[in-house]
Amino acid sequence: MIPNNKSAVTLLEEKMPQQQTQPIGGAMPTYGKEAGTGFPTRRLRRLRQNEKFRRLVREHSLAIDDLILPLFVVPGHGIKHEINAIPGNYHLSIDKLIEEVKEIRDLGIPGILLFGVPDPKDKDLYATGAYAPSGIVQQAVRALKQNVPEVLVVTDVCLCEYTPHSHCGILENGYLVNDASNEVLAKMALSHVQAGSDIVAPAAMLDGQVRALREALDSNGFVNTPIMAYSAKYASKLYDPFFKEGTQSTLSYGDKKTHQMDYSNSNEAMREIALDIEEGADIVMVKPALYYLDIVYRAKTEFQMPLATYNVSGEYAMIDAAARIGRLDKKLIMMEALTSMKRAGADIIITYFAKEVAKELQ
Ligand SMILES: [Zn+2]
Repeated sequence: MIPNNKSAVTLLEEKMPQQQTQPIGGAMPTYGKEAGTGFPTRRLRRLRQNEKFRRLVREHSLAIDDLILPLFVVPGHGIKHEINAIPGNYHLSIDKLIEEVKEIRDLGIPGILLFGVPDPKDKDLYATGAYAPSGIVQQAVRALKQNVPEVLVVTDVCLCEYTPHSHCGILENGYLVNDASNEVLAKMALSHVQAGSDIVAPAAMLDGQVRALREALDSNGFVNTPIMAYSAKYASKLYDPFFKEGTQSTLSYGDKKTHQMDYSNSNEAMREIALDIEEGADIVMVKPALYYLDIVYRAKTEFQMPLATYNVSGEYAMIDAAARIGRLDKKLIMMEALTSMKRAGADIIITYFAKEVAKELQ
């Protein structure tokens, strides 16, 4: 009920804390107030009455240019196995990966994020397979750069696919050792860039990982290779389909809560991002996306940096599963979900939906 001495607009403004009325790009205009009137002079439905009007005043739109598709490369030849937990996504041997990336190029998608799924015999406690010049990712990057140089190759830099216990680095008494693991991450990133990787993406959430990578790249002459930092990466159960079936690197024990962020925290994410920017990150990332749109919004508002968000495997799997049992329309929910990430401030969306979205937008 609106008290008769106050307009609805006044009430709304009183209710909203000041910072929420300040969107990116300037102060909130005072709709309705300038004329001293609201309804019936103001009718916001006028611009919603048909798609032509809606299109004209649309504030945020998804574009193919925003998309990055995660891909999983495996050793072997002629392999294209669907990943059950992330339907429509595959384990690909290098020859099939090249075919897939050609399709991605033809769809206009600017880049891929590459994960390696090495042979278990190539895993060890020091993750030496992560930086081997003959490693699966290094081989794949060289092949991609030879065959499909137009597509940006972003490589994930973390050690969990290369250790037998699947922790993100070197362990000492069960604890993930920070600085020694950073040294391995730096070697890994350097080996990716030497193979031809366009962007490296440190994902381990270790303190100082961005600096370690930047120093390794700069001291080897790769001053122009950007770093996309997984800056605010939360310890989330939404990664389960990825680890169980995507990279097949489910933890043998323990959890990742000593390095990935507690999902209850928001200010800490801003500190993580600030430190990564200081250490040399060119693009910062919030991961996951959908349950973390407040973090995406804050990150964009507070830092105005190029911002990526990762629409992770669990987010994909939920929509896919709901669509399979007829509860939701996959395409419509996909577009709504990804547009919400743009609206929150993301410039880049890493998503398993990338190909489907690109087809929708064409
Ligand atoms: Zn990891």
